[in-house]
Amino acid sequence: MRLSRGKKKTAKPGKDGELERSRAIAPTLEAVYPNARLVRVQLDFICESLPHHAQQAFLLHPPAKAHFAYPCPFGDCTGIYNLQESIARMLTAAVTNDAGSLTCTGLRARQGVPGQPCEQVMNYTVAVQYAQPVTSTRRVAGAVASR
Ligand SMILES: [Zn+2]
Repeated sequence: MRLSRGKKKTAKPGKDGELERSRAIAPTLEAVYPNARLVRVQLDFICESLPHHAQQAFLLHPPAKAHFAYPCPFGDCTGIYNLQESIARMLTAAVTNDAGSLTCTGLRARQGVPGQPCEQVMNYTVAVQYAQPVTSTRRVAGAVASR
């Protein structure tokens, strides 16, 4: 993660501002991955204690920004889960399903002590629908199952 140089910025400070800026410069899904019809990203947060963070799901259509970074659910945490590379890899290779987990690398107050490593674990699942099958499975004419 890049450290900010303390330049004066008009955008919101912290992770929200960072996310806004990177989202603003991101190209649209259809511009980079014209074959992708729908990208579904689901985030599940594994909680060591209450309150539990709600599951989050995002549906991205072709005009949406090809931007896959999500703020840590802790409001005071500086962390951002960055799925940009893993999802870009999926879209490039026309992979339809992927899952994994990330640990938050941000800092937040824990038990009254500020600046502690967050380490919130997030499990993600990504499902992508493509306009046409990229794998060139050759269909034999007449082999379509009749009803
Ligand atoms: Zn965090």
